[in-house]
Amino acid sequence: MAYGLILVMLLSAVFWALPKCKSDQPENNTNALKIPTVPVPNFSGDSAFAYVKKQVDFGPRVPGTAAHKACAAWLVESFKGFGMTVIEQPFKANTYFGTLDAVNIIAQYKPELSNRILLCAHWDSRHIADKDTKNKDKAILGADDGGSGVAVLLELARMVNETPVNIGIDFICFDAEDLGDDRLANPNQSVMLQNPQNTDKTWCLGSQYWSQNLHKPGYTAKFGILFDMVGAIGARFPREGFSVDKATEIVNKIWGVAAELKYNDLFVNIRGGNITDDHLFVMRGTQIPTVDIIGMPKEPPTFGDHHHTHFDNLSIIDSEVMRKVGQVAATVIYRTAAVPQ
Ligand SMILES: [Zn+2]
Repeated sequence: MAYGLILVMLLSAVFWALPKCKSDQPENNTNALKIPTVPVPNFSGDSAFAYVKKQVDFGPRVPGTAAHKACAAWLVESFKGFGMTVIEQPFKANTYFGTLDAVNIIAQYKPELSNRILLCAHWDSRHIADKDTKNKDKAILGADDGGSGVAVLLELARMVNETPVNIGIDFICFDAEDLGDDRLANPNQSVMLQNPQNTDKTWCLGSQYWSQNLHKPGYTAKFGILFDMVGAIGARFPREGFSVDKATEIVNKIWGVAAELKYNDLFVNIRGGNITDDHLFVMRGTQIPTVDIIGMPKEPPTFGDHHHTHFDNLSIIDSEVMRKVGQVAATVIYRTAAVPQ
């Protein structure tokens, strides 16, 4: 409806409104509703690609393995190198196949500021390839599922270090997201389905732990964005269901910015399914509305063919997809920071 559309435009204009002294755009008196913009650095897809490769080169990052430990050390050093204050939050991941040593990595940009944004991804990779036809019991490289989201976080951290922004950001790499048991979702194979809530409990162990053990008491942020499978060739991001229901305003902002940047083919305006992902536990444990940008390239919206298979390797990664996702996120961050508090 036209009225609704105008109202949305007005609200958007108010949200993004800037003090005139900060705007680098010439005033446009012919269109009072034109949304002011702020300078936003270019997000490098090539740099993000290099960060995916680096992670994949460690091998599968399954908690308890040497590759996992080495990657954790590299992540901590990388974020510190970008000027972040890093907290390592170790915990025991009680998986359906045993207890593993895991660690959430929390990199804080401008920790002294109370006005904050939460950006997150999972950094572990799946311990099995249960959707493959071969080597199903072997861990996957998780270039997209794990690697791409972390790569976007690292590149955004590099960006804000190079081009400072007036807002605090917490980059959280959640561990043990992908150690769940898909069979629990299949009523023919699971006894636990007598209580469907149990399906949740085997996934997202790092965000579950963090949400019950916040790195700072009373921690909060204006909103959160989760990046999961944001780097594959042919990716597409429908509006994930829990995000639409629980973080409507920020979903509209993100997909609105994407449309403005002409990335509508990537950020499509359809509702995807409800995905049990880290954002759900962030929202259960805090009041932070958190959006999941998650690749669902198929119709109806479902994960790509590489999901939880050995095809999730570097050859599935498209740096241009990550560049667009990163540019949308950067635009949202720099604009949010420019709104007076
Ligand atoms: Zn996964």
